[in-house]
Amino acid sequence: MIKYISTKGGISPVSFDDAVLQGIAADGGLFVPEIIPTITTEQLHEWSTLDYSSLAYEVLSLFIDRQIISSDDLKTLIADSFADFDHPDLIPLVTPYDNSRLHIMELFHGPTLSFKDIAMGFLVRTMDYLLQKRNQRINLILATTGDTGPAAANASAGRKTLTCWPLFPAGMISVEQEQQMTTLQDENIHPIAVSECLEGVDDLDVVIARLFSDTKRKEKLKLSSVNSINWCRVMVQTVHYIYGYFKACKNVGAPVAFSVPSGALGNLCAGNLAQKMGLPISTCICANNQNQTLHTAFSTGVFKKCELVQTVSSAIDIVLPYNFWRFLFFNNNYDSAKITSMMKTFDDSGEVQLDSKTFEDIRHSITSIAISDERTLHTIRESYDKYGYLLDPHGAVAVAAAKILQPTLGKDTPIVCLATAHPAKFPEVIRKALGDSKELPAQGKHKALEDAKLLPEKKLTCTVSELENFLSHHIKNSLFA
Ligand SMILES: *Cc1c(COP(=O)(O)O)cnc(C)c1O
Repeated sequence: MIKYISTKGGISPVSFDDAVLQGIAADGGLFVPEIIPTITTEQLHEWSTLDYSSLAYEVLSLFIDRQIISSDDLKTLIADSFADFDHPDLIPLVTPYDNSRLHIMELFHGPTLSFKDIAMGFLVRTMDYLLQKRNQRINLILATTGDTGPAAANASAGRKTLTCWPLFPAGMISVEQEQQMTTLQDENIHPIAVSECLEGVDDLDVVIARLFSDTKRKEKLKLSSVNSINWCRVMVQTVHYIYGYFKACKNVGAPVAFSVPSGALGNLCAGNLAQKMGLPISTCICANNQNQTLHTAFSTGVFKKCELVQTVSSAIDIVLPYNFWRFLFFNNNYDSAKITSMMKTFDDSGEVQLDSKTFEDIRHSITSIAISDERTLHTIRESYDKYGYLLDPHGAVAVAAAKILQPTLGKDTPIVCLATAHPAKFPEVIRKALGDSKELPAQGKHKALEDAKLLPEKKLTCTVSELENFLSHHIKNSLFA
Protein backbone atom coordinates (compact mmCIF):
# COMPACT_ATOMS: atom_id res chain seq x y z
CA MET A 1 0.00 0.00 0.00
CA ILE A 2 1.42 3.39 -1.00
CA LYS A 3 1.08 5.72 1.97
CA TYR A 4 1.41 9.46 2.34
CA ILE A 5 3.07 11.29 5.22
CA SER A 6 3.32 14.95 6.20
CA THR A 7 6.44 17.10 5.78
CA LYS A 8 5.93 18.03 9.44
CA GLY A 9 5.88 14.40 10.55
CA GLY A 10 2.88 14.90 12.84
CA ILE A 11 0.35 12.45 11.37
CA SER A 12 0.19 8.73 10.87
CA PRO A 13 0.49 7.74 7.21
CA VAL A 14 -2.69 8.07 5.12
CA SER A 15 -3.77 6.56 1.83
CA PHE A 16 -3.78 8.41 -1.51
CA ASP A 17 -7.48 9.26 -1.38
CA ASP A 18 -7.19 10.88 2.05
CA ALA A 19 -4.12 12.85 1.01
CA VAL A 20 -5.89 14.18 -2.07
CA LEU A 21 -9.18 15.00 -0.39
CA GLN A 22 -7.62 16.65 2.66
CA GLY A 23 -5.33 18.81 0.54
CA ILE A 24 -3.21 19.76 3.52
CA ALA A 25 -2.22 17.44 6.36
CA ALA A 26 -3.88 17.81 9.77
CA ASP A 27 -0.56 18.96 11.30
CA GLY A 28 -0.33 21.78 8.74
CA GLY A 29 2.35 20.01 6.71
CA LEU A 30 2.28 19.03 3.04
CA PHE A 31 1.64 15.48 1.92
CA VAL A 32 4.46 13.48 0.31
CA PRO A 33 4.68 9.79 -0.55
CA GLU A 34 6.32 7.70 2.16
CA ILE A 35 8.86 6.50 -0.39
CA ILE A 36 9.84 8.12 -3.67
CA PRO A 37 9.40 5.48 -6.39
CA THR A 38 12.29 5.00 -8.77
CA ILE A 39 12.23 4.60 -12.52
CA THR A 40 14.40 1.69 -13.62
CA THR A 41 16.59 1.87 -16.72
CA GLU A 42 14.37 -0.78 -18.23
CA GLN A 43 11.23 1.29 -17.62
CA LEU A 44 12.95 4.33 -19.03
CA HIS A 45 13.50 2.49 -22.31
CA GLU A 46 10.01 1.00 -22.34
CA TRP A 47 8.36 4.34 -21.69
CA SER A 48 10.37 6.31 -24.22
CA THR A 49 7.92 5.83 -27.08
CA LEU A 50 4.65 6.17 -25.18
CA ASP A 51 2.17 8.92 -25.89
CA TYR A 52 1.43 11.34 -23.07
CA SER A 53 -1.69 9.58 -21.73
CA SER A 54 -0.12 6.12 -21.69
CA LEU A 55 2.95 7.53 -19.96
CA ALA A 56 0.75 9.33 -17.43
CA TYR A 57 -0.92 6.01 -16.67
CA GLU A 58 2.43 4.32 -16.01
CA VAL A 59 3.78 7.15 -13.87
CA LEU A 60 0.63 7.73 -11.82
CA SER A 61 0.38 3.99 -11.17
CA LEU A 62 3.59 4.32 -9.15
CA PHE A 63 1.79 6.65 -6.73
CA ILE A 64 -1.79 5.33 -6.61
CA ASP A 65 -2.93 1.95 -5.36
CA ARG A 66 -5.21 -0.11 -7.56
CA GLN A 67 -7.51 -0.68 -4.55
CA ILE A 68 -8.16 3.04 -4.47
CA ILE A 69 -8.47 3.68 -8.19
CA SER A 70 -8.70 0.58 -10.35
CA SER A 71 -6.56 0.49 -13.42
CA ASP A 72 -9.54 0.91 -15.75
CA ASP A 73 -10.83 3.85 -13.76
CA LEU A 74 -7.39 5.46 -13.74
CA LYS A 75 -7.24 5.16 -17.52
CA THR A 76 -10.70 6.72 -17.80
CA LEU A 77 -9.79 9.57 -15.44
CA ILE A 78 -6.69 10.34 -17.48
CA ALA A 79 -8.58 10.16 -20.78
CA ASP A 80 -11.34 12.47 -19.48
CA SER A 81 -8.82 14.94 -18.08
CA PHE A 82 -7.23 15.49 -21.46
CA ALA A 83 -10.26 15.05 -23.70
CA ASP A 84 -10.69 18.77 -24.33
CA PHE A 85 -7.04 19.62 -25.06
CA ASP A 86 -6.80 21.12 -28.52
CA HIS A 87 -3.57 19.46 -29.71
CA PRO A 88 -3.14 15.79 -30.70
CA ASP A 89 0.13 15.54 -28.71
CA LEU A 90 -1.59 17.26 -25.73
CA ILE A 91 1.72 18.91 -24.76
CA PRO A 92 3.74 19.30 -27.98
CA LEU A 93 7.47 20.00 -28.04
CA VAL A 94 8.49 22.60 -30.63
CA THR A 95 11.88 23.88 -31.74
CA PRO A 96 11.20 27.30 -33.24
CA TYR A 97 14.70 28.82 -33.09
CA ASP A 98 17.89 28.23 -35.04
CA ASN A 99 19.39 27.10 -31.75
CA SER A 100 18.48 23.45 -32.22
CA ARG A 101 19.05 22.50 -28.60
CA LEU A 102 16.52 25.00 -27.30
CA HIS A 103 13.07 23.43 -27.20
CA ILE A 104 9.76 24.71 -25.99
CA MET A 105 7.19 22.46 -24.45
CA GLU A 106 3.75 23.98 -24.91
CA LEU A 107 1.80 23.23 -21.77
CA PHE A 108 -1.12 25.51 -22.62
CA HIS A 109 -3.36 23.50 -24.93
CA GLY A 110 -5.92 22.73 -22.24
CA PRO A 111 -9.38 24.29 -21.88
CA THR A 112 -8.24 27.38 -19.90
CA LEU A 113 -5.00 27.85 -21.82
CA SER A 114 -2.42 27.43 -19.08
CA PHE A 115 -0.31 24.62 -17.71
CA LYS A 116 -2.59 24.52 -14.66
CA ASP A 117 -5.08 22.50 -16.76
CA ILE A 118 -2.66 19.60 -16.92
CA ALA A 119 -2.79 18.63 -13.27
CA MET A 120 -6.04 20.36 -12.35
CA GLY A 121 -8.24 18.44 -14.76
CA PHE A 122 -7.05 15.19 -13.27
CA LEU A 123 -7.11 16.39 -9.66
CA VAL A 124 -10.67 17.72 -9.77
CA ARG A 125 -11.95 14.63 -11.59
CA THR A 126 -10.17 12.40 -9.11
CA MET A 127 -11.71 14.29 -6.20
CA ASP A 128 -15.12 14.01 -7.81
CA TYR A 129 -14.59 10.27 -8.34
CA LEU A 130 -13.49 9.68 -4.74
CA LEU A 131 -16.25 11.88 -3.30
CA GLN A 132 -18.93 10.07 -5.29
CA LYS A 133 -17.69 6.78 -3.87
CA ARG A 134 -17.86 8.22 -0.35
CA ASN A 135 -21.09 10.06 -0.98
CA GLN A 136 -19.50 13.30 0.25
CA ARG A 137 -19.18 16.87 -0.95
CA ILE A 138 -16.49 19.48 -0.33
CA ASN A 139 -15.71 23.17 -0.74
CA LEU A 140 -12.58 23.88 -2.72
CA ILE A 141 -10.88 27.10 -1.73
CA LEU A 142 -7.97 28.31 -3.75
CA ALA A 143 -5.96 31.42 -4.30
CA THR A 144 -4.91 32.30 -7.82
CA THR A 145 -2.40 34.52 -9.59
CA GLY A 146 -4.66 34.11 -12.60
CA ASP A 147 -4.38 30.59 -13.97
CA THR A 148 -5.17 28.19 -11.12
CA GLY A 149 -8.59 29.81 -10.65
CA PRO A 150 -9.82 29.36 -14.23
CA ALA A 151 -8.43 25.81 -14.40
CA ALA A 152 -10.08 24.77 -11.12
CA ALA A 153 -13.36 26.53 -11.88
CA ASN A 154 -13.55 25.03 -15.35
CA ALA A 155 -12.84 21.52 -14.12
CA SER A 156 -15.30 21.87 -11.21
CA ALA A 157 -18.14 23.48 -13.15
CA GLY A 158 -21.38 21.56 -12.81
CA ARG A 159 -19.98 18.80 -10.58
CA LYS A 160 -22.36 17.89 -7.78
CA THR A 161 -19.66 16.89 -5.30
CA LEU A 162 -17.76 20.19 -5.36
CA THR A 163 -18.30 23.87 -4.78
CA CYS A 164 -15.39 25.97 -5.97
CA TRP A 165 -14.31 29.31 -4.43
CA PRO A 166 -11.49 30.82 -6.47
CA LEU A 167 -9.99 33.90 -4.76
CA PHE A 168 -7.98 36.42 -6.72
CA PRO A 169 -6.24 39.71 -5.88
CA ALA A 170 -8.47 42.30 -7.59
CA GLY A 171 -6.79 44.14 -10.45
CA MET A 172 -3.67 41.99 -10.32
CA ILE A 173 -4.62 39.40 -12.92
CA SER A 174 -5.47 39.98 -16.57
CA VAL A 175 -9.02 40.83 -17.64
CA GLU A 176 -9.04 37.67 -19.75
CA GLN A 177 -8.09 35.50 -16.77
CA GLU A 178 -10.76 37.12 -14.61
CA GLN A 179 -13.42 36.55 -17.26
CA GLN A 180 -12.49 32.88 -17.50
CA MET A 181 -13.80 32.54 -13.95
CA THR A 182 -16.54 35.13 -13.74
CA THR A 183 -18.36 34.11 -16.93
CA LEU A 184 -18.94 30.53 -15.82
CA GLN A 185 -22.63 30.40 -15.06
CA ASP A 186 -22.62 27.21 -13.01
CA GLU A 187 -24.10 27.45 -9.54
CA ASN A 188 -21.17 25.71 -7.86
CA ILE A 189 -18.60 28.33 -8.91
CA HIS A 190 -18.10 31.47 -6.78
CA PRO A 191 -15.16 33.64 -7.81
CA ILE A 192 -14.21 36.30 -5.24
CA ALA A 193 -12.30 39.46 -6.19
CA VAL A 194 -10.34 40.47 -3.10
CA SER A 195 -9.16 44.07 -2.88
CA GLU A 196 -6.34 45.62 -0.81
CA CYS A 197 -3.95 42.70 -1.32
CA LEU A 198 -0.68 44.53 -0.73
CA GLU A 199 1.30 41.32 -1.14
CA GLY A 200 -0.86 40.02 -3.97
CA VAL A 201 -1.81 36.37 -3.87
CA ASP A 202 0.35 35.76 -0.81
CA ASP A 203 -2.19 37.71 1.27
CA LEU A 204 -4.84 35.23 0.15
CA ASP A 205 -2.64 32.25 0.97
CA VAL A 206 -2.30 33.59 4.52
CA VAL A 207 -6.08 33.69 4.96
CA ILE A 208 -6.47 30.20 3.50
CA ALA A 209 -3.74 28.87 5.80
CA ARG A 210 -5.61 30.42 8.76
CA LEU A 211 -8.90 28.87 7.71
CA PHE A 212 -7.26 25.48 7.28
CA SER A 213 -5.30 25.61 10.54
CA ASP A 214 -8.56 25.57 12.50
CA THR A 215 -9.19 21.84 12.08
CA LYS A 216 -12.72 22.00 13.50
CA ARG A 217 -13.78 24.76 11.16
CA LYS A 218 -12.04 23.04 8.23
CA GLU A 219 -14.15 19.94 8.88
CA LYS A 220 -17.35 21.79 9.54
CA LEU A 221 -17.06 23.81 6.34
CA LYS A 222 -15.76 20.74 4.47
CA LEU A 223 -12.80 22.64 3.11
CA SER A 224 -10.11 21.37 0.81
CA SER A 225 -7.61 22.87 -1.56
CA VAL A 226 -6.46 22.32 -5.10
CA ASN A 227 -3.59 24.78 -4.91
CA SER A 228 -0.26 23.09 -5.46
CA ILE A 229 -0.12 22.31 -1.75
CA ASN A 230 -2.27 19.39 -2.94
CA TRP A 231 0.02 16.43 -3.58
CA CYS A 232 -1.89 15.37 -6.68
CA ARG A 233 -0.83 18.53 -8.53
CA VAL A 234 2.86 17.86 -8.01
CA MET A 235 2.43 14.17 -8.83
CA VAL A 236 0.75 14.79 -12.20
CA GLN A 237 3.30 17.45 -13.09
CA THR A 238 6.14 14.91 -12.95
CA VAL A 239 4.69 13.38 -16.12
CA HIS A 240 5.48 16.31 -18.41
CA TYR A 241 9.13 16.20 -17.37
CA ILE A 242 9.36 12.53 -18.24
CA TYR A 243 7.48 13.02 -21.50
CA GLY A 244 9.54 16.12 -22.36
CA TYR A 245 12.71 14.26 -21.55
CA PHE A 246 11.97 11.57 -24.13
CA LYS A 247 11.02 14.14 -26.76
CA ALA A 248 14.24 16.12 -26.30
CA CYS A 249 16.93 13.58 -25.38
CA LYS A 250 19.45 12.47 -27.99
CA ASN A 251 19.27 8.93 -26.66
CA VAL A 252 17.65 7.50 -23.56
CA GLY A 253 20.02 8.07 -20.65
CA ALA A 254 21.62 11.27 -21.97
CA PRO A 255 21.08 14.45 -19.92
CA VAL A 256 18.39 17.05 -20.60
CA ALA A 257 17.88 20.38 -18.78
CA PHE A 258 14.55 22.08 -18.08
CA SER A 259 13.81 25.77 -17.67
CA VAL A 260 10.81 26.42 -15.45
CA PRO A 261 9.09 29.77 -14.81
CA SER A 262 8.57 29.45 -11.08
CA GLY A 263 6.09 30.95 -8.66
CA ALA A 264 4.82 28.69 -5.89
CA LEU A 265 7.43 26.08 -6.89
CA GLY A 266 4.90 23.31 -7.58
CA ASN A 267 6.11 22.76 -11.13
CA LEU A 268 9.78 22.80 -10.23
CA CYS A 269 9.17 20.56 -7.23
CA ALA A 270 7.72 18.04 -9.69
CA GLY A 271 10.82 18.36 -11.89
CA ASN A 272 13.03 17.79 -8.88
CA LEU A 273 10.94 14.78 -7.94
CA ALA A 274 11.40 13.37 -11.46
CA GLN A 275 15.16 13.82 -10.97
CA LYS A 276 14.97 11.96 -7.67
CA MET A 277 13.00 9.17 -9.33
CA GLY A 278 15.97 8.71 -11.63
CA LEU A 279 15.12 10.71 -14.76
CA PRO A 280 18.44 11.95 -16.20
CA ILE A 281 17.71 15.67 -15.88
CA SER A 282 21.04 17.49 -15.61
CA THR A 283 19.52 20.57 -14.04
CA CYS A 284 16.20 22.30 -13.55
CA ILE A 285 16.51 26.04 -14.03
CA CYS A 286 14.35 27.89 -11.54
CA ALA A 287 13.44 31.00 -13.54
CA ASN A 288 12.03 33.81 -11.40
CA ASN A 289 10.91 37.25 -12.45
CA GLN A 290 11.83 40.14 -10.13
CA ASN A 291 10.00 38.37 -7.31
CA GLN A 292 13.08 36.35 -6.60
CA THR A 293 12.67 34.65 -3.24
CA LEU A 294 13.60 31.34 -4.86
CA HIS A 295 16.56 32.62 -6.85
CA THR A 296 17.93 34.17 -3.65
CA ALA A 297 17.47 30.89 -1.76
CA PHE A 298 19.08 28.78 -4.48
CA SER A 299 21.99 31.15 -5.09
CA THR A 300 22.79 32.30 -1.54
CA GLY A 301 21.20 29.69 0.71
CA VAL A 302 19.00 32.25 2.48
CA PHE A 303 15.25 31.74 2.25
CA LYS A 304 13.61 35.07 2.87
CA LYS A 305 10.46 36.64 1.49
CA CYS A 306 11.20 39.34 -1.10
CA GLU A 307 9.16 42.53 -1.60
CA LEU A 308 6.27 42.08 -4.01
CA VAL A 309 6.88 43.65 -7.42
CA GLN A 310 4.09 43.64 -10.00
CA THR A 311 5.61 42.33 -13.21
CA VAL A 312 4.54 41.48 -16.76
CA SER A 313 4.68 37.78 -15.83
CA SER A 314 2.03 38.16 -13.15
CA ALA A 315 1.29 34.44 -12.68
CA ILE A 316 4.66 34.12 -10.94
CA ASP A 317 4.38 37.25 -8.79
CA ILE A 318 4.76 35.29 -5.58
CA VAL A 319 6.88 36.22 -2.59
CA LEU A 320 6.41 33.10 -0.49
CA PRO A 321 6.50 29.88 -2.55
CA TYR A 322 4.71 27.35 -0.36
CA ASN A 323 6.17 24.28 -2.04
CA PHE A 324 9.60 25.29 -0.77
CA TRP A 325 9.12 23.15 2.35
CA ARG A 326 8.10 20.12 0.32
CA PHE A 327 11.11 20.69 -1.88
CA LEU A 328 13.40 20.89 1.17
CA PHE A 329 11.85 17.75 2.58
CA PHE A 330 12.78 15.86 -0.60
CA ASN A 331 16.27 17.33 -0.38
CA ASN A 332 16.88 16.54 3.30
CA ASN A 333 16.33 12.79 3.37
CA TYR A 334 12.77 13.20 4.58
CA ASP A 335 13.93 14.74 7.87
CA SER A 336 10.65 16.17 9.13
CA ALA A 337 12.10 17.31 12.46
CA LYS A 338 14.64 19.40 10.58
CA ILE A 339 12.05 20.87 8.22
CA THR A 340 9.71 21.70 11.10
CA SER A 341 12.49 23.47 12.94
CA MET A 342 13.48 25.39 9.80
CA MET A 343 9.85 26.43 9.33
CA LYS A 344 9.79 27.67 12.90
CA THR A 345 13.00 29.67 12.46
CA PHE A 346 11.46 31.19 9.35
CA ASP A 347 8.20 32.03 11.12
CA ASP A 348 10.02 33.56 14.09
CA SER A 349 12.69 35.57 12.32
CA GLY A 350 11.47 35.97 8.73
CA GLU A 351 14.35 34.02 7.26
CA VAL A 352 16.14 30.73 7.40
CA GLN A 353 19.60 29.73 6.24
CA LEU A 354 20.13 26.41 4.48
CA ASP A 355 22.95 24.36 5.93
CA SER A 356 25.92 24.01 3.62
CA LYS A 357 25.32 20.35 2.76
CA THR A 358 21.72 20.95 1.71
CA PHE A 359 22.74 24.03 -0.21
CA GLU A 360 25.45 22.15 -2.11
CA ASP A 361 23.19 19.16 -2.78
CA ILE A 362 20.50 21.40 -4.22
CA ARG A 363 22.99 23.13 -6.47
CA HIS A 364 23.73 19.80 -8.11
CA SER A 365 20.16 19.58 -9.36
CA ILE A 366 18.89 23.18 -9.51
CA THR A 367 20.20 26.33 -11.19
CA SER A 368 18.45 29.64 -10.76
CA ILE A 369 18.15 33.11 -12.22
CA ALA A 370 15.88 36.17 -12.01
CA ILE A 371 14.71 37.80 -15.25
CA SER A 372 13.79 41.49 -15.53
CA ASP A 373 10.61 42.67 -17.25
CA GLU A 374 12.76 44.38 -19.83
CA ARG A 375 14.36 41.09 -20.80
CA THR A 376 11.05 39.26 -20.78
CA LEU A 377 9.57 41.82 -23.19
CA HIS A 378 12.70 41.72 -25.34
CA THR A 379 12.50 37.93 -25.49
CA ILE A 380 8.87 38.04 -26.64
CA ARG A 381 9.72 40.62 -29.30
CA GLU A 382 12.80 38.81 -30.58
CA SER A 383 11.05 35.45 -30.71
CA TYR A 384 8.17 36.91 -32.69
CA ASP A 385 10.06 39.28 -34.98
CA LYS A 386 12.84 36.86 -35.87
CA TYR A 387 11.09 33.50 -35.76
CA GLY A 388 7.37 34.24 -35.89
CA TYR A 389 6.88 32.39 -32.61
CA LEU A 390 4.75 34.20 -30.03
CA LEU A 391 5.66 33.46 -26.40
CA ASP A 392 3.54 34.34 -23.41
CA PRO A 393 5.37 36.33 -20.71
CA HIS A 394 6.00 33.22 -18.56
CA GLY A 395 7.31 31.10 -21.40
CA ALA A 396 9.46 34.13 -22.20
CA VAL A 397 10.93 34.11 -18.68
CA ALA A 398 11.85 30.44 -19.20
CA VAL A 399 13.37 31.06 -22.63
CA ALA A 400 15.31 34.12 -21.44
CA ALA A 401 16.70 32.10 -18.52
CA ALA A 402 17.65 29.19 -20.78
CA LYS A 403 19.47 31.45 -23.25
CA ILE A 404 21.51 33.10 -20.52
CA LEU A 405 22.40 29.86 -18.76
CA GLN A 406 22.90 27.63 -21.80
CA PRO A 407 26.69 28.25 -21.92
CA THR A 408 27.01 26.98 -18.34
CA LEU A 409 25.23 23.69 -19.14
CA GLY A 410 26.75 20.76 -21.02
CA LYS A 411 27.64 21.63 -24.62
CA ASP A 412 25.28 19.07 -26.08
CA THR A 413 22.60 19.22 -23.43
CA PRO A 414 19.17 20.02 -24.85
CA ILE A 415 17.06 22.46 -22.81
CA VAL A 416 13.30 22.18 -22.59
CA CYS A 417 11.68 25.52 -21.75
CA LEU A 418 8.25 25.16 -20.24
CA ALA A 419 5.78 27.52 -21.92
CA THR A 420 3.12 27.69 -19.24
CA ALA A 421 0.43 29.90 -20.74
CA HIS A 422 -1.13 30.84 -24.06
CA PRO A 423 -0.12 34.38 -25.11
CA ALA A 424 -3.79 35.30 -25.64
CA LYS A 425 -4.19 35.44 -21.86
CA PHE A 426 -1.89 38.47 -21.76
CA PRO A 427 -2.75 40.74 -24.71
CA GLU A 428 -1.61 43.91 -22.94
CA VAL A 429 1.84 42.51 -22.27
CA ILE A 430 2.10 41.21 -25.83
CA ARG A 431 1.19 44.65 -27.20
CA LYS A 432 3.74 46.24 -24.92
CA ALA A 433 6.41 43.81 -26.10
CA LEU A 434 5.68 44.09 -29.81
CA GLY A 435 4.98 47.82 -29.85
CA ASP A 436 1.55 49.31 -29.12
CA SER A 437 0.92 50.34 -32.67
CA LYS A 438 1.07 46.78 -33.94
CA GLU A 439 -2.08 44.78 -34.36
CA LEU A 440 -2.15 41.76 -32.03
CA PRO A 441 -0.91 38.74 -34.08
CA ALA A 442 -3.36 35.90 -34.71
CA GLN A 443 -1.41 33.70 -32.25
CA GLY A 444 -2.13 36.30 -29.58
CA LYS A 445 -5.86 35.73 -29.78
CA HIS A 446 -8.04 32.83 -28.79
CA LYS A 447 -11.67 32.21 -29.55
CA ALA A 448 -12.52 30.97 -26.06
CA LEU A 449 -11.36 34.27 -24.58
CA GLU A 450 -13.14 36.33 -27.22
CA ASP A 451 -16.35 34.40 -26.56
CA ALA A 452 -16.07 35.00 -22.81
CA LYS A 453 -16.08 38.77 -23.40
CA LEU A 454 -19.70 38.52 -24.54
CA LEU A 455 -20.99 36.65 -21.49
CA PRO A 456 -22.41 38.17 -18.29
CA GLU A 457 -20.04 38.22 -15.33
CA LYS A 458 -20.71 36.93 -11.84
CA LYS A 459 -18.43 37.52 -8.85
CA LEU A 460 -18.35 38.38 -5.16
CA THR A 461 -16.12 41.13 -3.80
CA CYS A 462 -14.57 41.90 -0.42
CA THR A 463 -11.38 43.30 1.09
CA VAL A 464 -8.59 41.08 2.32
CA SER A 465 -9.31 41.98 5.96
CA GLU A 466 -12.93 40.92 5.53
CA LEU A 467 -12.11 37.76 3.63
CA GLU A 468 -11.93 35.21 6.43
CA ASN A 469 -15.39 36.04 7.83
CA PHE A 470 -16.86 36.72 4.42
CA LEU A 471 -15.82 33.33 3.14
CA SER A 472 -16.89 31.39 6.25
CA HIS A 473 -20.25 33.14 6.11
CA HIS A 474 -20.86 32.45 2.43
CA ILE A 475 -19.76 28.86 2.70
CA LYS A 476 -21.96 28.25 5.73
CA ASN A 477 -24.95 29.69 3.89
CA SER A 478 -24.30 27.57 0.85
CA LEU A 479 -23.55 24.39 2.75
CA PHE A 480 -25.32 21.94 0.56
CA ALA A 481 -28.73 23.06 1.70
C1 LIG B 1 1.21 28.94 -12.00
C2 LIG B 1 2.04 29.40 -13.12
C3 LIG B 1 3.43 29.31 -13.08
C4 LIG B 1 4.19 28.89 -11.86
O1 LIG B 1 4.04 27.58 -11.45
P1 LIG B 1 4.37 27.16 -9.95
O2 LIG B 1 4.06 25.75 -9.87
O3 LIG B 1 3.48 28.01 -9.08
O4 LIG B 1 5.81 27.51 -9.70
C5 LIG B 1 4.14 29.68 -14.20
N1 LIG B 1 3.51 30.17 -15.28
C6 LIG B 1 2.18 30.27 -15.36
C7 LIG B 1 1.57 30.83 -16.59
C8 LIG B 1 1.40 29.89 -14.28
O5 LIG B 1 0.06 30.02 -14.34
